Amino acid sequence: HFISRDSDLLTNFGFFVNQPTAPPTPEIPPHDGVSEPSPAPAPPKRFTLAVKDNIATTTASLPTTCGSAFLAAHRSPFEATIVTQLRRRGAALVGKMNLDEFGMGSHSVNSAFGAVAQEISQQKRSAGGSSGGSAVAVATGEADVALGTDTGGSVRLPAAYTGTVGYKPSYGMLSRHGVVPYANSLDTVGLLARSVRAVAELVVGPGALWAEHDPRDPTSLSVAARARCASLREGYQDGLPLSAPPAREESSQSQPQSPSLGERYTQRHDGSSTLLAQSHERKSPEAMLKGVRFGIPLEYNIEELDPCIRVAWAAAAERLQALGARIVPVSLPSTRHALSAYYVIAPAEASSNLAKYDGVRYGSVREDTDQDSKTTDAADGGVLYAATRGRGFGDEVKRRILLGSYTLSSEAMDNYFLQAQKVRRLVRRDFDRVFALENPLHEREAFSLSDLPDTVAMENKFGPTEVDFLLCPTAPTLAPLLEDVLAERTPVDAYMNDVFTVPASLAGLPAISIPMTVAAGEEAVAEVAGLQLIGQFWDDARLLAVADAVS
Ligand code: GLN
Repeated sequence: HFISRDSDLLTNFGFFVNQPTAPPTPEIPPHDGVSEPSPAPAPPKRFTLAVKDNIATTTASLPTTCGSAFLAAHRSPFEATIVTQLRRRGAALVGKMNLDEFGMGSHSVNSAFGAVAQEISQQKRSAGGSSGGSAVAVATGEADVALGTDTGGSVRLPAAYTGTVGYKPSYGMLSRHGVVPYANSLDTVGLLARSVRAVAELVVGPGALWAEHDPRDPTSLSVAARARCASLREGYQDGLPLSAPPAREESSQSQPQSPSLGERYTQRHDGSSTLLAQSHERKSPEAMLKGVRFGIPLEYNIEELDPCIRVAWAAAAERLQALGARIVPVSLPSTRHALSAYYVIAPAEASSNLAKYDGVRYGSVREDTDQDSKTTDAADGGVLYAATRGRGFGDEVKRRILLGSYTLSSEAMDNYFLQAQKVRRLVRRDFDRVFALENPLHEREAFSLSDLPDTVAMENKFGPTEVDFLLCPTAPTLAPLLEDVLAERTPVDAYMNDVFTVPASLAGLPAISIPMTVAAGEEAVAEVAGLQLIGQFWDDARLLAVADAVS
């Protein structure tokens, strides 16, 4: 699951924190006036960080390959903002992680560097994709935190399959400067860790990542918009109302040398500072969850849902109810079209983004040009492009380019790309209709029952559908066996895994996958699946606080 690692970085743990001579990084202007770190920010806590290999790093030993033969030797001249931001907060890079080429896939098997696998009960299983390497690094303890990218579920799905926590922020919250684009209108940078708390500490609270606008990323929300969104939400101004950490056990005195970020938090919460713990009174999970309304989207109860996941989902809802939360059935009727819309929009944007890999600007021209084209004039762009692109890209990437070029072509545009954009709008409207909070980016659209398909309108007697969060599985199945994934007959089999993750991506909403224990198989062996919480736009602080209380 590593593409490259530097053992020196591991043994010199903390190098980046302590050395003023760390590699040159772009200066990020301070966030003016949004949320002054107060009191003085806590000194950075050191933690190990694994970085998905479509995120630029400048350490000489760590290339940025995107899992592609095209970029096998690529060294980025600059570092992604998010990496700089995390290094400033104490991160030490341990390596670059394998992924599906350019982030295209759901099992991390579409990489020029081989497939990622995780071992469960002596069997090789899918680690999910496309941030599979990042998820395995966190699951095995090789890193405390990992960076992934989530365009349609690529952080949440690997988290679900590996039993880790995977968080996709609101679109535009975390900087994408230095993240190789796949589908710009959907791409987000996400975080994986073994606890919600480890993610929450970095993202929300005074002086945390949420507040930092990056002028180098045109999709990064402006300082003013951040301030406005935060003023409409809880948890940004005063720090996060995290629930009480588990009681400290005696054995915690003899902690291992390099505890995880979450463990370190527990050790330190007795008064020494952490960004989040300072200003807020801690609450019990009951106090956190009392009265919180969770919507159960009925359309997510699909035929393909593994029965053991369905049972665990219902049990999670019951547990929340027992803790004082309210469970409300809701209808998101456009869900059934979301997957198809995603697989039109994402490849369309990808086909445009990947046009620059032409063997001139990126890719080695001479070596990559095959025998036939060597005999032709190298200035003949068509031949050069075809040869280098034919060799440089893997099958899945080629499939997406063909698909995207077709749906954007003049004869297909109306039937595919424009229809998909309409579905995207309906998906967003579905979410806006069920959430109690409004989306600060746009007006709530008028909604009439007659917009719903007949069957849904008939059944629509669920009472108020104003909820705080949606509660659903992250994926319809447990992590499949790697051999089954490799034997899949059509790519659509893999696309199906994204059915529960793409709706939040299409709407730009924050979502998190937390581990959920399920009783699977004939002997009802306990296995792990993902429970997904989805929140309204920029409600990330509350989403993380509630996920922390639930997990
Ligand atoms: N599996 C989805 C795809 O292949 C999602 C990928 C992602 O989020 N990067 O497009």
